[in-house]
Amino acid sequence: MDEHQKELLKHLPKIDEMILRIEKRENLAGFPREIVKEACRSVVERLRGQVLAGRGKGAQLRLPTPEQAADRAAEIVGGYPSYRLRRVINATGVILHTNLGRAPLCREAIERVVDVARGYSNLEYDLEKGERGLRYDHVRGLLCALTGAEDALVVNNNAAAVLLVLNALAEGKEAIVSRGELIEIGGEFRIPDVMEKSGARLQEVGTTNRTRLSDYERAIGPETAIILKVHTSNFRIMGFTEEADLGSLVALGKKHHLPVVDDLGSGCLIELDRYGLEREPTVRDCLAAGADVVTFSGDKLLGGPQAGIILGKREFLERIRRNPLNRALRIDKLTLAALEATMVKYLRPAQALGDMRVLRALTEPVADVKKRAKRLAAMLRRVLPEGADIKLATGVSVAGGGSLPTREIPTILVSLRVTTLSAAALEERLRRRELPVIVRVAADEVLLDVRTLDPEEFAGVRDALRMIMVEGKT
Ligand SMILES: *Cc1c(COP(=O)(O)O)cnc(C)c1O
Repeated sequence: MDEHQKELLKHLPKIDEMILRIEKRENLAGFPREIVKEACRSVVERLRGQVLAGRGKGAQLRLPTPEQAADRAAEIVGGYPSYRLRRVINATGVILHTNLGRAPLCREAIERVVDVARGYSNLEYDLEKGERGLRYDHVRGLLCALTGAEDALVVNNNAAAVLLVLNALAEGKEAIVSRGELIEIGGEFRIPDVMEKSGARLQEVGTTNRTRLSDYERAIGPETAIILKVHTSNFRIMGFTEEADLGSLVALGKKHHLPVVDDLGSGCLIELDRYGLEREPTVRDCLAAGADVVTFSGDKLLGGPQAGIILGKREFLERIRRNPLNRALRIDKLTLAALEATMVKYLRPAQALGDMRVLRALTEPVADVKKRAKRLAAMLRRVLPEGADIKLATGVSVAGGGSLPTREIPTILVSLRVTTLSAAALEERLRRRELPVIVRVAADEVLLDVRTLDPEEFAGVRDALRMIMVEGKT
């Protein structure tokens, strides 16, 4: 370290002095001191780093005046917060990516959220009678009409729905469930653990791969409160398997006066097999087969907001609605607004398929994905430097979010290879942008799965790549 560097280090701006200057500025008055201090410290540390790295050698570096240093810190504070929770562009090809917020909302759902959030609402107010109403009534009629259910109730998410139903119908008693259906749903959450918390005792029957109706029947005793079926939505057992179908469980339940509860998980309202996907039992199928209570998520195949939807026979739904846990698990008004708009979409299934991203991504013919991929590739070629290798490739997308586990959906990938950055480095820079682009990496190529990209997001992808590749921004 030379003398000049030592001198510079001695005269780095003083943090306390910077804070005083910033706190006098009107637009930052009252800003939490911790944040101001942190910004000042980062400015000073940066300067110190520059000096130590040798930039102070031979009088190359001039320190900012205290006012200039305060300016720099104030700029950091002024930009605070850069929101942590933000929109990202999902180019992974995982359609229901639980880490990426599962289902994007359709336009109408977003508009309803904004409108209801803007002011007061009739959340629990009956506008016709001028008296207290029920929040569930805003979606009850729609849900019943769309599924053939007698009654409907919505809560915070499907795990909450399962917890509530079991508590209301089987607390202190037994719930019979097949060993083949004791699933983990991700994030280390296991359905059996959620169930235990309800106060119901799980009476496990059968084996992992085979459970027969007679296994259920043998387990029924004076303590039995319900028969539970859990849709194995995120995996498949193949080979030597057997399960009791819903219809036969319903018949068994009837014989012993026991309600049958079906946790459907994904909850599909549209017959997916019509669009080349494997058949998922629809909610209507399950109710028609006689399930007394059915639960599913709002943000899986349904394509709406996070919610738990409970449908079924009125006598059970009434008990569930009045259960005190329902108050703790209740759905909020913004979710309800989005859910209502999503349900309205389903009144016209053709429109729902076109307008809801999850359904569109699941059912779009690969030829159409290819057309969009060509457009994206052309956009990228126009802005990226010579060295960038941009190609189309075939690949597979997946439903994700614990839905359609074995289904590989053909897709088109835009593959990118650049000379200046490794694929891993490019992936990281795309991910760390203000509007992050989340991609796949394979064999030192960055892969953009066009199936999960909306055309409106193409410009975001292009701009991110241009910034990184052409302007060298990180
Ligand atoms: C996903 C899933 C759940 C949990 O639903 P959340 O909406 O994530 O709370 C419960 N049961 C099954 C069968 C599932 O697939």
